[in-house]
Amino acid sequence: MLIIKNARLLEPLTEGYDLSMGDIWVEGAKITAIRRPGELPQESEAIVEATVIDAEGKTVLPGLIDMHAHVYMKSLDIEGMRDRGPAVSVLNAYQYAREYLNAGYTTVRDCGCMYNVTVALEEARRRGELDVPRLISSGRILTPTETGNDTFGELYAEADSPWEVRKAAREQFKLKNDFIKYMVTGAFLNEKGSPGMVIAAPDELRAAVEVAEMKESYVCGHAHSAVGIKRAIEAGFRTIEHGVFLDDECIELFLKKDGCFLVPTGAITLACAGDTMYMSQDLKEKAERYFDEERVNINKAYEAGLKLGFGSDLDMENFMSHVGYEFTARTDYYNFKPMDILLQATKNSAEIMMMDDEIGTIKVGKAADLVICDGNPDEDIRVMNRPLVHVISGGKIIR
Ligand SMILES: [Zn+2]
Repeated sequence: MLIIKNARLLEPLTEGYDLSMGDIWVEGAKITAIRRPGELPQESEAIVEATVIDAEGKTVLPGLIDMHAHVYMKSLDIEGMRDRGPAVSVLNAYQYAREYLNAGYTTVRDCGCMYNVTVALEEARRRGELDVPRLISSGRILTPTETGNDTFGELYAEADSPWEVRKAAREQFKLKNDFIKYMVTGAFLNEKGSPGMVIAAPDELRAAVEVAEMKESYVCGHAHSAVGIKRAIEAGFRTIEHGVFLDDECIELFLKKDGCFLVPTGAITLACAGDTMYMSQDLKEKAERYFDEERVNINKAYEAGLKLGFGSDLDMENFMSHVGYEFTARTDYYNFKPMDILLQATKNSAEIMMMDDEIGTIKVGKAADLVICDGNPDEDIRVMNRPLVHVISGGKIIR
């Protein structure tokens, strides 16, 4: 048993308990009680043997969620992203997954990997063999035949008609992946790719959604341009990633359509536009061209009240050298309020992934995925730029 006492709690992230201080009881992998500090009986044998963490002066949050990760991605160097075969992919993914967990991300949705590595990692986690985040996987990324795909070797599964899309989507589910990732528009990081260009036809998008729905799952779409975003929403996609060029019509569609959500990815934009040594002239020019536009458009989506997911799309090198990069991106680059960012990184993302019965808030019966940070991140998001005091995943103290 684990008891976290004197925890400072944030009401929007704590369900069924509304005081700002509490003791959290954890038994096995679940939260079993939240009580007024010191209210719980002290004499029982279980309590005497319990591990106790005193969180006095610290804030306890639900485990963090990154909805847009690529755990195989070591650096932004195109060479670093190139397919280096199964063995290297496994090593890179395991290393990055461990770093994610150490940084408080107890759930990571992987939006594209090779050799089904993330499924293997998740299975090892479930068996209790590896300390990695709960991994939600897309497997290979479905895409029309497109420039730049070959750089990434096995990452992309090219499919060019509804029939090919159905086959490719079913293959990902056969390999025990959880959802489908689909390239609706070109990408910044694909050599010679044009982010604003729509590359998929409506019947192809619809075919992916049909297969996912049969598997009680959903499709996640990489989409930058307004036309691409609209097409994906209309086809029934559940999440739209990046959304750099979204317009007012897209925002209206999001608001009208039940069950479709935007996942902005701020940190990757900052990384590409910054001093990253790897950026080729082509990539740098693209990054500079869209930098201000993205800020304006994503802020508009936020102001309109869209429920936003929390995604970083970062490589491991940038993730490691900027602690809490996505949190900073959402205050400094976008203009979001700290409490909203914390909601995005926990509750909102859990709801968008339809996992809110299990994760996303601190609640009796939910997974004991908790992070303890030194300070008040709801007042100053920069608290998230410092290493966490403790990370607890499924009741286990990771750090
Ligand atoms: Zn991505």
